[in-house]
Amino acid sequence: MPTMTADETALGGRLAAVPTHPSTQATLEVDLDAVVANYRLLAARLGDRAVCAPAVKADAYGLGMAHIAPALYGAGARLFFVAHLAEGVALRALLPDAEIAVLNGMMGPEVAEIHAARLTPVLNDLGAVALWRVAGRGRPAFVHIDTGMNRLGLDPDAAKTLVERPELLDGIALRGWMTHMACADTPGHPLNVQQRSLFHLLLKNLPQAPASLANSSSIFLGAPYHFEIARPGCALYGINPTPAAANPMRPVVRLLAPVLQVRTVSHPGTVGYGATARVQAGQRLATISIGYADGFLRCLGNGVTLRLDGLPVPVVGRVSMDLVTVDIGGLPEGAVVPGESRVEVLGESITADTLAAAAGTIGYEILTALGSRFRRDYQSSEFAEWVSCKPSAAPS
Ligand SMILES: *Cc1c(COP(=O)(O)O)cnc(C)c1O
Repeated sequence: MPTMTADETALGGRLAAVPTHPSTQATLEVDLDAVVANYRLLAARLGDRAVCAPAVKADAYGLGMAHIAPALYGAGARLFFVAHLAEGVALRALLPDAEIAVLNGMMGPEVAEIHAARLTPVLNDLGAVALWRVAGRGRPAFVHIDTGMNRLGLDPDAAKTLVERPELLDGIALRGWMTHMACADTPGHPLNVQQRSLFHLLLKNLPQAPASLANSSSIFLGAPYHFEIARPGCALYGINPTPAAANPMRPVVRLLAPVLQVRTVSHPGTVGYGATARVQAGQRLATISIGYADGFLRCLGNGVTLRLDGLPVPVVGRVSMDLVTVDIGGLPEGAVVPGESRVEVLGESITADTLAAAAGTIGYEILTALGSRFRRDYQSSEFAEWVSCKPSAAPS
């Protein structure tokens, strides 16, 4: 490590030592043991009757499918849901023996790759059903029925067509019927019973196959919502599937942004772009190494309070692309050291759900917005220690 001359040290003032933080980039810590514990909790709620099939789309909600999916496989998961062909191909390379279903279905030109990677498409309309009859070559597929979201899947009339003409399914190895709930995180919502009842009614009249309805929140609506295959995502990653009650899941992520610079304001002035925050002489500020390009949403400027060593540090001014400024007046003078101190942006002091509430969004968006510039540390009791990935090595 280079040493500074006495002169340089004097000029550097309190920066007498070379910063020790391994890089200027923020660190995202992902606790794989917690993901596995969450999987086991959900599987236990489902009991023996229903399979727990993780949703690992969007790079496992931004946390790194390359690490999350093998950990879940190790915990017993054998069926996984992704959104796109490319995600399925990436997952196939990780898990040669898993069953991988592709929620967004497929376009015609993707059929060959679906076969090559042995993926299970989800058929979302009668056209896809017809395509898979001829192109599926006996490989399995799910059929998705839209029971009330008006978003994706066969609408109830198309499902009734299949009831009246089951021969439209001839030649398809039907892996299961699925539907998706619009309001499962709101237990009293009338759509919950409506969607479940319609799904039930259709299932009674359709060819027999495993049924799948439940996302994370639906698992907590009780056994009538479990059916044979559940597809939890968010709860595995620590997001609260029961927003009206305490979070039953274990926290999974911690995001720590290093302090780059500390200053005591010398004259009254403003902070950051647009000069939106006024500061007084003597006010102490720290600038941390994270910004909206990392998923720290710009709307969190001048609003949210983060923590440093457990003490509150409110964000001052706008969020920049790579930088955020916080007020460190609540910490003792000298306690915040550039290159050593780190602000907890996600973790015990502020969960994805809390940060989301401050930003007017949901925890899902906070996680999936996490950028690709972090150092990523994965922790598991199976490793001797934290396994670190440079940002460039993070799966995309
Ligand atoms: C994303 C998704 C899931 C997982 O939902 P969570 O709310 O994250 O548990 C399940 N099913 C479908 C169709 C999805 O798109």
